[in-house]
Amino acid sequence: MPLRFNRILLKVGGESLLGDREYGISHESAKAVALQIKEVHDMGVQVAVVIGGGNIFRGISAEKSGFDRATADYMGMLATVMNGLALMDALERVGVPVRLQSALEMPAVAEPFVRRRAIRHMEKGRVIILAAGTGVPFVTTDTGSSLHALELHCDVVIKATKVDGVFERDPMQDPSARRYKTVNLHDMLSNQNISVMDSGALAMCMENNMPVMVFELFKEGNLKKAVSGEDIGTYASADVKTELA
Ligand code: UDP
Repeated sequence: MPLRFNRILLKVGGESLLGDREYGISHESAKAVALQIKEVHDMGVQVAVVIGGGNIFRGISAEKSGFDRATADYMGMLATVMNGLALMDALERVGVPVRLQSALEMPAVAEPFVRRRAIRHMEKGRVIILAAGTGVPFVTTDTGSSLHALELHCDVVIKATKVDGVFERDPMQDPSARRYKTVNLHDMLSNQNISVMDSGALAMCMENNMPVMVFELFKEGNLKKAVSGEDIGTYASADVKTELA
């Protein structure tokens, strides 16, 4: 069976590692994410993971409590390195070869991000985890995801969320909100009711013809279905019509 996507950029938000905790990293959740990745890795899909840090520290929230924004953002980037280490450990424990690269140099715990080396790792069948986002403040790991997906020639950005795709309105607030099957990225950017990804990150995908898929990562087998071409979640790109499911 040919795959729909051969090389994916999977954005895993820090909240995916929370489990039932309010803060920090749940070992069980890291393992659950690792098992989803293993399933597609075993099918021969090349996987780059951009890991977030929201379960530990977010620059923008820290700024509201009085921190200097840039300093707080660097702290947030450090949080993503901790999550990256946890996910690396979880992947190794389920037998997946993996390398952690960081956009902030930290040679004792991670390789520096080197684009060509990251591509080589994937070609050799290693999952790469990309920590510290872009390495600069005032953006988030969503921007890191778009940027890395483009420079690593990925076929798609997969944004794992808590709900099964992009909805008309926040389905957590309004359960009657309907899911989109496809969304044009222009519509997604201009619609104030949709806030799945940072606008800068979305604009980068739109301008460079990078599709974005949005679905619930913890639904058993969802990642496998997405790379096999099954119709799940929401597919967003610059060249599709916006249609409800
Ligand atoms: N961050 C940053 N530059 C980047 C990526 C991340 O400054 O390129 C900081 C920012 O403070 C952000 C935090 O790291 O809030 C954690 O990342 P993010 O909020 O994207 O995590 P997620 O919401 O995906 O868990």
